[in-house]
This record gives sequence, structure tokens and C-alpha cells, in this order.
Amino acid sequence: MSDKSIQVIEGSEVGFATTRVDALLGWARKYSLFQYPFVTACCGMEFMALASPRFDMARFGAEAPRFTPRQADLLWVVGTVSQRQAPVLKMVYDQMADPKYVLAFGTCASCGGFYDNYATVPGIDKVIPVDVYVPGCPPRPEGVIDGLLLLQDKIATGDRTPAVVKPRTDPVPKDLVSLRRSAEGDPVSEAG
Ligand code: SF4
Repeated sequence: MSDKSIQVIEGSEVGFATTRVDALLGWARKYSLFQYPFVTACCGMEFMALASPRFDMARFGAEAPRFTPRQADLLWVVGTVSQRQAPVLKMVYDQMADPKYVLAFGTCASCGGFYDNYATVPGIDKVIPVDVYVPGCPPRPEGVIDGLLLLQDKIATGDRTPAVVKPRTDPVPKDLVSLRRSAEGDPVSEAG
């Protein structure tokens, strides 16, 4: 919950705080997402990595899958969506209860990727609204976690403006490069 939505009242023996009901609901919702994975293609491999203990989606309260849309409020669209799948995707979205959120996982779901052809939907936002786009082919799990955290912030503040996850630059530290070179006996590194 943002600091602005909480007001701590001084002077009480036990202490208490006030907040707004919508801020309280947003805070609760962002940590209790029930996901419906709509997985169609190779991005599914990274989706499985995301759910593994290494990346541990459970930390964010979003690990529990629901394979009926009526029990889900977060639709992960993972992979390429064909024109024939589009009506099914729309039906799944329509069956989810409000408030519901959509995350486009990977370049194909976000914009069709390199499938510039008659059979592929050029981005799921042609079919359903999207809250967060995660670019990458496939995106790394860290990038998807960035997308999930971005979505959580938007849920907490009630912001439904679509957003794109920024790419991580994640440069390799220079000392790590020189360590690796010297371990491999690189003459460049040994010469200084
Ligand atoms: S974005 Fe890349 S990895 Fe993901 S479904 Fe498309 S082609 Fe496959």
C-alpha cells in the first residue's frame, strides 16, 4: 500500500492507522492473484521456469493456477495466438470475474512477433484488453517478474493504463569478465 493511502494517528496507547477502502482492497488483491495460464507456444518453457522454485512466483502471491476462468483474475497469455484461437481467448476472458487483469507474456502475445502472416493474431490486444506487456522471445523469468510487480503496482493504485516492461540491461560486471579470462588463461587479461 502506498504511504499516501495510510495515515498513522499519533497519541494512542496501542496506535492505529487509517486508510481508504479502495486502497485496502487494491493492496489485498495484488497479493492474492489467481492465474489462468493460456499457454500456446514455446514461451511456455519460460513460464514453467517462472513457476519453479528458482524464480518462485509464490513469493508474490500469484502462483495458484485456476483452470476455470470463473475462479481466476489474472490471465497470462503465453505464446503465439492464432486466428482460430482468438475466439477461445475472448471467451475465456469474458468468463473471468471482474476485476480481471491480463499479462501478455512474450513478443508473440504482445504484437505477433515475427509471425507476420494471415494465421497469427498481431497482438492479443486486438482481441482483449491488456494491462502489462512483457517483451522478449521468450522473455527471461526476471523480466516476467518485473511485469508481475508492475501489474501489482497498477492493481494497488487502480491504474488500468497499459504498460510495457522495460528491458533489463543487466551488464556483466567488468571484474567478473577479467576473473573469467584469467581463469581461462586469457593472455589479454594476463598482460594486464
Ligand atoms: S515470443 Fe518467441 S519464444 Fe515466445 S511464443 Fe513467440 S516465438 Fe515462441
